[in-house]
Amino acid sequence: PSPHPRRRRVLLKLSGEVFGGGKVGIDTSVVRQIAVQIASTVGQAETAVVVGGGNFFRGAELSGAGLDRSRADYMGMLGTVMNSLALQDILEQEGVDTRVQSAIEMAQVAENYIPRRAIRHMEKDRVVIFGAGAGLPYFSTDTVAAQRALEVHAEEVLVAKNGVDGVYTADPKLDPTAERLHHLTYDEALRRDIRVMDQTAFSLCKDNNVTMRVFGMQGEGNVTRAILGEEIGTRVTA
Ligand code: UDP
Repeated sequence: PSPHPRRRRVLLKLSGEVFGGGKVGIDTSVVRQIAVQIASTVGQAETAVVVGGGNFFRGAELSGAGLDRSRADYMGMLGTVMNSLALQDILEQEGVDTRVQSAIEMAQVAENYIPRRAIRHMEKDRVVIFGAGAGLPYFSTDTVAAQRALEVHAEEVLVAKNGVDGVYTADPKLDPTAERLHHLTYDEALRRDIRVMDQTAFSLCKDNNVTMRVFGMQGEGNVTRAILGEEIGTRVTA
């Protein structure tokens, strides 16, 4: 079978902030709201998820507090695995078959990251959750979201945000005249230093012609709508 999908295949990036509901740890009610929405799309679209870990540890912060940066980054990556297991558990409670693939070997907990196997899982209606980032210090899960999207031939990176429903002309919390953009190019995102994803993620998607959609988690059914390809939030293209 070809690695190129016949039905829509997407890569959903969920930041650690989403898992924690803004706090340290895991807010299972928030994770369940997302899981229910993913469950409703199974069979219609293929979904892989890259999870962040900022609700546990961010390497840069720990290193600022005196830990070696690489070791702190590994702690950050381990946090993403905890989020992956929480999402896996709740998705399975909702009747979805799942696999967690980790970029750091941990056989009791997750499969290793094997891209062709990830594709086969999605073809069999399994949701694949990518944990442990890239397995590399000094990287971010934003960058990994773009890289995994490319490697599993996803056609779009979906960026679920907390508190905002897309990219604005200015910070909507500070500037009441800020308006939501329906479309943005990667060059504009890079030039204007828009921080919804990091610059490496924008560059990777730009160079390889993958679109991104930035949308708000809060709107009713928004995760479902984004997975199925509805025009919500802000679309970012080359
Ligand atoms: N991290 C890393 N390499 C990776 C992905 C993540 O070192 O490939 C570490 C890094 O320390 C980061 C932490 O894991 O701060 C949590 O990931 P991230 O900050 O991207 O999560 P998010 O902001 O999406 O919650």
